[in-house]
Amino acid sequence: MPVTATSIPMLADNYAWLLIEGLSGKIGMVDPAEPEAAIEAVEIMNGQLDYIFLTHHHHDHVGGVAALVETYHPLVVGNAADASRLPKLDIAVTEGDTVEFGAAVARVIATPGHTLGHIAYYFADGGILLPGDTLFSLGCGRLFEGTAEDMFGAFRKFDALSDETFVCAGHEYTAANAKFALSVDPDNAALQARAAQVAALRAAGKPSLPVRLGEERAANPFLRAATVEAFGRLRAAKDVF
Ligand SMILES: [Zn+2]
Repeated sequence: MPVTATSIPMLADNYAWLLIEGLSGKIGMVDPAEPEAAIEAVEIMNGQLDYIFLTHHHHDHVGGVAALVETYHPLVVGNAADASRLPKLDIAVTEGDTVEFGAAVARVIATPGHTLGHIAYYFADGGILLPGDTLFSLGCGRLFEGTAEDMFGAFRKFDALSDETFVCAGHEYTAANAKFALSVDPDNAALQARAAQVAALRAAGKPSLPVRLGEERAANPFLRAATVEAFGRLRAAKDVF
């Protein structure tokens, strides 16, 4: 039974992701931003939370951890190199590590750029990528600590993943990202279609995520940038858009 991921809206535009491993029934949460919404989601799961997976240290990704740990005692997973600025880790990981999640396995992918200690998680069983604030639909994270080269390199690690992969990103930024993407790639039919789809989803109050990685490969200018220079120019232009 594969892992499934469900978005949980938090704060203004964050998503935590609720993970369920079907065989064991293990439950995990990725980047709980705030206590109330996180606890509410766990209560729907009869108060079961086995793991918390953290992508990076920003408060809007870890703000709910303390309350969840106190209430449900999950194991907290995060980057060993960032342990000093993350909540207390029970499982400290690094690039290439695997973390057992019931009958499934999460692979750790180092994705510096947004922060230097940023990591993503990939569940092959279910085809789920949790890129945090590295890759968004039609966009990418801001370079707060790393360089364009760092994030371009992180994106190349996603090249090995199949088009069917579900991208479960950390923010609902897609509609705003679509405006910038269309400004730099106005004739891209896949981008136009995705922008229209997102406008309809958001108008109906629905999340624009997850999205298939293949759709992003066709429509996301940051993922499509062929060189680190092109990527860097896009990122700089988006910063002032
Ligand atoms: Zn962040």
